Amino acid sequence: MTSKQPLRPPMGDPVNLKDYDPDYTGEYDDKDAAEDQLKDNRDRLRELQQVLYAEHKHALLIVLQGMDASGKDGTIRHVMQGINPQGVTVTSFKVPTPEELDHDFLWRIHQHTPRRGMIGIFNRSHYEDVLIVRVEKLVSRGVWQARYDHINAFERLLADSGVTILKFFLHISKNEQKERFQDRLNEPDKRWKFSTGDLGVRAKWDDYQAAYEDALSRCNTGWAPWHIVPANKKWYRNLVISNTIVKALERLHMRYPEPEEGLDEIVIPD
Ligand code: ATP
Ligand code: MG
Repeated sequence: MTSKQPLRPPMGDPVNLKDYDPDYTGEYDDKDAAEDQLKDNRDRLRELQQVLYAEHKHALLIVLQGMDASGKDGTIRHVMQGINPQGVTVTSFKVPTPEELDHDFLWRIHQHTPRRGMIGIFNRSHYEDVLIVRVEKLVSRGVWQARYDHINAFERLLADSGVTILKFFLHISKNEQKERFQDRLNEPDKRWKFSTGDLGVRAKWDDYQAAYEDALSRCNTGWAPWHIVPANKKWYRNLVISNTIVKALERLHMRYPEPEEGLDEIVIPD
């Protein structure tokens, strides 16, 4: 059993991912022990999402980042179970199109940020522009170096405009990724998820971890904090993320809007 591991890296300190155990499961021994809490979180999240939508004052942006097979899709499936689909948008950011590349790197991102009342989920995000873009040298060092400040300012703008931002790095071990890849190869229904290109990225594992460490250190702000989620165990990953979302929404002290006056006297005509 590991000693207590912070979910939020201390602000201002450089992050060393080796200090974070991807197998960590906190006070829980196994999935069964977490089951009640997981269910409570799902119920609570459903209620909170309804008020968020009805109150129409705040928005929530959830950013999911992680290596291939770290569980971004699975997180969305699990955590959002039972949520009213009208109140959620999910955006997956892929390789930019030529049009997107002709703009600044935040142009394509900004248009998908959640409007008031909505939960927006980013499956990958503007962080790709300091991750794959940096590791694969798709732009010069000077260009990606300047992006951390741009990202912080952009996220500040969103926060000042009523968007609560929660960023999750799904932290898996290299070995766990190997097992999940192997799973995808073994199971006919999962094969479509495997792309040989993923192996090229895996070969640069250490470079990606270093790029993640910089993003986690340099863009860890009070208005858009990073969470380093131990993600080898899927149930713990889901628990941590749903807990964090519920707590963040509760801090908004949301209320249903006041109904129109005189509703008690209303008789619905035949
Ligand atoms: P899956 O887990 O299902 O494979 P995925 O998110 O990996 O989902 P893919 O279509 O396989 O989806 O990959 C999208 C690719 O686009 C990723 O390799 C990602 O790094 C890349 N990408 C995203 N944003 C950018 C960007 N700004 N510049 C370059 N590549 C990007
Ligand atoms: Mg992929």
